[in-house]
Amino acid sequence: MQTPKWLRRAVGMPGTVSFTGIEPSVVAALSLLPDLASLSSPEFLHRAQAFDGTRPEALALAADASSRGLGVVPFREQLRAAAAMLDGFAVEMDTGEGKTLAGALAAAGHALAGRSVHVISVNDYLARRDAEWMRPLYAALGIQVAAVGEASTTEERRAAYRAEVTYASVSEVGYDVLRDRFCVRDDDRVDPRMDVAIVDEADAVMIDEAIVPLVLAGSTPHDEGDTAQAAAFVRNMTEGADYVIDAEGATVGFTDEALDTLEARLGGVNLYASAHIPTLTALNLALHARVLMHRDVDYVIEDGELRLVNTSRGRIADGQRWPDGLHAAVEAKEGLQASGSGVILDTLTVQDLLLQYPSLTGMSGTMLAVADELIEFYEVPCGRVERRLPQARVDEPDLLLDTEDEVFAAVAAEVERRHGLGQPVLVGTQSIADSEAVAAKLTARGLELRVLNAKNDETEAQTVARAGERDAVTISTQMSGRGTDILLGGADAADHDAVAARGGLAVIQVGLYPSRRLDAQLRGRAGRQGDPGVSVRICSLHDDLIVTTATRTIRAQIDSPAALTDRARQRIVRIAQDISEALRADAHRATWGYNRAITRQRQTVLAERRTISTSDDLLGERMGDIPGLEADDPAVTDAVREIALLSLDDVWCEHLQMLQSVRDGIHLRALGGQNPLDEFHRLALAEFDGFFDRAYADARRLISATGAVDVAAALAAARQRRPSATWTYMVSDDPLGDAASRAADSLRAMWAGRRKGR
Ligand code: ADP
Ligand code: MG
Repeated sequence: MQTPKWLRRAVGMPGTVSFTGIEPSVVAALSLLPDLASLSSPEFLHRAQAFDGTRPEALALAADASSRGLGVVPFREQLRAAAAMLDGFAVEMDTGEGKTLAGALAAAGHALAGRSVHVISVNDYLARRDAEWMRPLYAALGIQVAAVGEASTTEERRAAYRAEVTYASVSEVGYDVLRDRFCVRDDDRVDPRMDVAIVDEADAVMIDEAIVPLVLAGSTPHDEGDTAQAAAFVRNMTEGADYVIDAEGATVGFTDEALDTLEARLGGVNLYASAHIPTLTALNLALHARVLMHRDVDYVIEDGELRLVNTSRGRIADGQRWPDGLHAAVEAKEGLQASGSGVILDTLTVQDLLLQYPSLTGMSGTMLAVADELIEFYEVPCGRVERRLPQARVDEPDLLLDTEDEVFAAVAAEVERRHGLGQPVLVGTQSIADSEAVAAKLTARGLELRVLNAKNDETEAQTVARAGERDAVTISTQMSGRGTDILLGGADAADHDAVAARGGLAVIQVGLYPSRRLDAQLRGRAGRQGDPGVSVRICSLHDDLIVTTATRTIRAQIDSPAALTDRARQRIVRIAQDISEALRADAHRATWGYNRAITRQRQTVLAERRTISTSDDLLGERMGDIPGLEADDPAVTDAVREIALLSLDDVWCEHLQMLQSVRDGIHLRALGGQNPLDEFHRLALAEFDGFFDRAYADARRLISATGAVDVAAALAAARQRRPSATWTYMVSDDPLGDAASRAADSLRAMWAGRRKGR
């Protein structure tokens, strides 16, 4: 529910601004339009190319280019949003109000002023779609536009980043930055210019995914022995006798009896002796994979490959892996070919990446709720652009029931009722598994359904686009087909009026999302641009979100629900979402705290890399005198430079591993009430001490290793050490029960158990 305007004004929501100050720019831009409209195309293009004016003039040119190129006259609201983004504000604008065009207007405005713009899309499909959709607008202004996707080649990437406006997902830009950072020659870089970023679905990217690390790894062969054996050992274990799951279902551990048996089967070893810790870890991971990781919930298998599902969103997470041990354990559980493991070369969080843009802004249907975090983490203020037409959607009161069975029954009844009225129905679930469960029950009642399985963004978009067709019943997770407009009466809006007359799209939400923003995004699927529509949220008091966040009092309440009034039920739901939102914010803050030290050190190393890349003198100074080296030969200097760069990278990679292990153990190290974050910073600083000396000493050692100085041999050796292939992945880091963090909890529980003296 939106905070009423009077209240927001009265209390002053932190980070929220009013856009009344923007209005003069919009008025100025509008006043320029008649003059621009009278220009011929070549005259207009010339005017754009020779542009050297004010923001309102740029905005007017972009607006006129929309009319010329797209045949779409921007709404005043879109101009307002674009003007706000050009001024550095993030914008909340409801679903269906036309953010794609608003973002393009802002991007064009920046490009006219000579800036390089990245429009950050949610996925590759949307990057491509939006770049193509908006191309005629940019073309009218003589602005080049391009898109980057997972499948883009190095050459295509380089070309795309040379365009003035580039559409790409945050991970593609991040991977390019990471790969570039390891290049030893300038020509190898694809060179994304970090100047202006306009982020679509900005709360999802800038807040929900902020601490997701983008990882660049180099492949090494993987030792499968322990993992396969561990999978075999746990395969037939039973709950109670062999293992116990904790009350929240978050961690699992072996019973003492099971550990005794395992030790015997391994030949009478003591698993807690330090030599056998790797085996014990493999066993714990295998158990976790076997008991707590669920196929089609946490992951799916496609073409013999493990593909992760982002549980909070029910989406297949492209290119993601769990931290190595867990990934291998699940592969072993499913009898899949191990995909190998790697050494992490460098990582970059989404937030790190976005902070590299001197100008950063974004747009989303749900932004004000995270206004304070946008200020805290990015110093980006945000405001809201009101809807063009009044909201006509009716949000019905929640149905808060006692049991899951009642929820299913209520959902089925509601779908049938709405369907009977001739309304298209969109059912939003929590996960692919939930979608399938709901679909099975509805199919059994004879309904014809379209079920989105989060496997392919493009086909999903096509299905979602048709969710407003008469008689359509579509089952989807929250994120499925996001960014796709649902028109009443189908993708061509042929039946629009007939469907509107029957009440428009009905959105039925099953279960609670971990934040109100996610609820609002699903609801926003109905009632676009003044259309009628209806939404209702149906959940049980035993919803996962409630159970995992419940205090003792609430646990007691939900265990005897008969006495609970509707008000009390509302309160329980509110508290569960409050807790979950607060947990996410805390995790963000904590991770960011740890990350800051690493980020600073990375920046120092990158600056050093640039220094020795550009100055022969400073390179010589850093490397010192190497007796017998032909210092005047440019070829020798280049080889020495490359060796030095490779050494810097190598030592960085070691440093990163060291920091990771420090961080993993920080809660054990920070004894006696020390603040773990301070302690981490202290240790990180200490570890970084002498970093450059180590790196250059390593380079010198390589060069003099052969006794006689042979730079060619040294260079070959340095190159040899670098992994021959690199790959990238994203570690999803959902504080509420993401698979990887739950595995980490299990391992922590194991260590805690060990410390208790098992
Ligand atoms: P959002 O991202 O805000 O949910 P979209 O950018 O997907 O919205 O646009 C929603 C719909 O509105 C699209 O079908 C688009 O063609 C239409 N639209 C956007 N701007 C205009 C406009 N100025 N005039 C007419 N239709 C528009
Ligand atoms: Mg959109």
